[in-house]
Amino acid sequence: MFSVVVPIHNESEGIKNFLDKELFPELEKIKKYRHEVIFVDDGSTDNSLEIIQEYAKKQKNIRIIALSRNFGKEPALSAGLAEASGDAVITIDADGQQPPKLIPEFIKKWEDGADIVTGVRDHYTKHGLIQKMGSKLFYWLLRKMGNKYTVPGSTDFRLMDRAVVDEFNRLSEHNRITRGLIDWLGFKQEYIKYTYGARLAGKPSYGMKKLFKLAIDSFVSMSTTPLVVLGYLGLIITFLSGILGLFVIIQQYVLGDPLGLYWNGAVQMAIFITFLIGIVLISQAITALYISHIHAETQSRPLYIINKKESRNLKNG
Ligand code: UDP
Ligand code: MG
Repeated sequence: MFSVVVPIHNESEGIKNFLDKELFPELEKIKKYRHEVIFVDDGSTDNSLEIIQEYAKKQKNIRIIALSRNFGKEPALSAGLAEASGDAVITIDADGQQPPKLIPEFIKKWEDGADIVTGVRDHYTKHGLIQKMGSKLFYWLLRKMGNKYTVPGSTDFRLMDRAVVDEFNRLSEHNRITRGLIDWLGFKQEYIKYTYGARLAGKPSYGMKKLFKLAIDSFVSMSTTPLVVLGYLGLIITFLSGILGLFVIIQQYVLGDPLGLYWNGAVQMAIFITFLIGIVLISQAITALYISHIHAETQSRPLYIINKKESRNLKNG
């Protein structure tokens, strides 16, 4: 049996089309396994919830988690994953941007041994230049910051083996980026390229502001590189102004200004202040590193993840 988890927030305009014409027909075609569909209504203020409740009346394998308010897509996904009971769990958006006709391919890769199959969009069809450049910049930065796991363009259109879902459910941190966490988990990951379509209806609820927050969250939760960069900047500033300071002392006071620069007190003061600013930057970065360690502790991620599928004869297996 496999589960399909669909997060829903105000999708009433397009959801019927998506379910009747895309998702359900595709699922019906898969005869080999039974399936359940778990809708997570993430505090919709339109009638999305009523619409899916209608479906659930007719179909026993539809389950609905109704969150008490809008918590955001990441918590909604987590709620769905916690409820899913399939041997594999597929997460898919309700807006039709992720084509359900690829689900058989996801399942095929899973049967062939992949623990995680992630949909990777090859390009945006209806996104502006700014968004395209923004996402390029995002992945470039993420890579530079040492997150080697995340493949550019990977989305939350994904299949996960039971073993992966079980481990995911144990993670307890709050500011979660599902993508990043799953990449962090490890396991055998495969990718399927697809063309990210336009929304069937409605507006994406991830506006620029939310995307920006998502990007910042990804950086902050996954890496300390920004801090380290700041620290290095401080080091460079302190080093350069230190050398300049020494130069002034020797040139002017020891050798008696043979170069004839006549650098006055203001210049010396400027050099000294720059030197101090460098030191402030360094100490800030050091403090921030301590905070990041505290942060890592409070996330209380498990120290390691065991691949129970591949391990043998474990005591607690
Ligand atoms: N969604 C959700 N909670 C939210 C925002 C979005 O459950 O607070 C759902 C939404 O209904 C859709 C999916 O998450 O099924 C992706 O949302 P959206 O299309 O807005 O994001 P994008 O396609 O831009 O990633
Ligand atoms: Mg979308």
